[in-house]
Amino acid sequence: MDRIYLDNAATTQPAPEVIEAMLSCLRKTYGNPSSLHSVGLEARGLIESARRKMAAFINASPDEVIFTGSGTESNNTVIKGIALSLQDKGNHIISTAIEHHAVHAPLSFLEEQGFKVTYLPNDDEGLVDPDDLKKAISEKTILVSVMHANNEIGTIEPIRELGAICRERGIYFHTDAVQTFGHLPIDVQEMNIDLLSASAHKLYGPKGIGLLYARKGVKIKPLLHGGDQEKRRRASTENTPGIAGFAKAVELAATEMEREALRQTRLRDRLISALLELVPESRLNGHPKLRLPNNINMSFAYVEGEAMLLNLDMQGISVSTGSACTSASLEPSHVLAALGLTQELSHGSLRFSLSRSTTEEEIEQVISTLTPIIAQLRAMSPLYRKQAVK
Ligand code: PLP
Repeated sequence: MDRIYLDNAATTQPAPEVIEAMLSCLRKTYGNPSSLHSVGLEARGLIESARRKMAAFINASPDEVIFTGSGTESNNTVIKGIALSLQDKGNHIISTAIEHHAVHAPLSFLEEQGFKVTYLPNDDEGLVDPDDLKKAISEKTILVSVMHANNEIGTIEPIRELGAICRERGIYFHTDAVQTFGHLPIDVQEMNIDLLSASAHKLYGPKGIGLLYARKGVKIKPLLHGGDQEKRRRASTENTPGIAGFAKAVELAATEMEREALRQTRLRDRLISALLELVPESRLNGHPKLRLPNNINMSFAYVEGEAMLLNLDMQGISVSTGSACTSASLEPSHVLAALGLTQELSHGSLRFSLSRSTTEEEIEQVISTLTPIIAQLRAMSPLYRKQAVK
């Protein structure tokens, strides 16, 4: 049996068309885009055409799109770059308790340098309340950063409302859209977004290539200094094969996104309802409806996430416990903790993330494989036996 890969929030398998576009670029469009001869000009042409595609995809203009090395780099550039360029205006940043480490870590770094950060709370389904943002804004606020959708629990935040509050107060609004770019429609004008981060490997593109949208006029200090690439906003010889792959991934997303969102939502809801019905003491983490079409995060009492993960892996099914970034450590997920989950329930959580190649048969296979695994693990659990006797 082929492996069932349900860890697409960690990374996706590159689409065949993406691989083709990258190979063709490596073979033929190898010039340095800064070179003035025709080999260089050809590479420059590829990059600028990709930039136009990216811009059109989110209703931006091409010079507002900066290619970076990853989602992490885009987030770091925004957070440190805005802090550095606006430090004379204020030292206060607002974010949330459930951001990815690629936002929390640069914020902690800034706190060590004397900046103040307010982490907005969320409800027990992971939603941030726009009224809390209004209350947190002060004269010193220079940036608000709230993710579009959470990578662990899939909850989609009210970006347009949050952005409107910032726009009214003249404060820059950033969203980490790494999990939504290429999966949900994004219109930076309509959604009041000033800065946005995305990463190709989450939408069937290659790793090591990211995007930063920065609205015209937004002042941002670069993270990397060197050559004049990306209009001095990101020095480094451009990753042309990565950009070619990213552009192809966006082209595919533009045609498939809407259909796939509906299809994956149906598969998602089938998996959720079957597991809730078949597994006693199970719960869904995150919002039931305002959630990524491909995300299922559930907790199963009295079992360890790692034990379920390894048993599923032995049977050819790849999933993750919480977030892939935290799952290698045994730290409980900060996102599940922010939902108010106990440590036990947090440790008993699994994340399934679907892709455009996930089928109905695979979902049924997961249901019929996981249910007996949980029953077996519970049969071995003294805690479970003790409560069952009660
Ligand atoms: N932000 C979110 C929400 C993510 O899910 C990830 C990756 O897991 C990142 C940022 C980091 O992106 P990259 O892997 O491109 O550095």
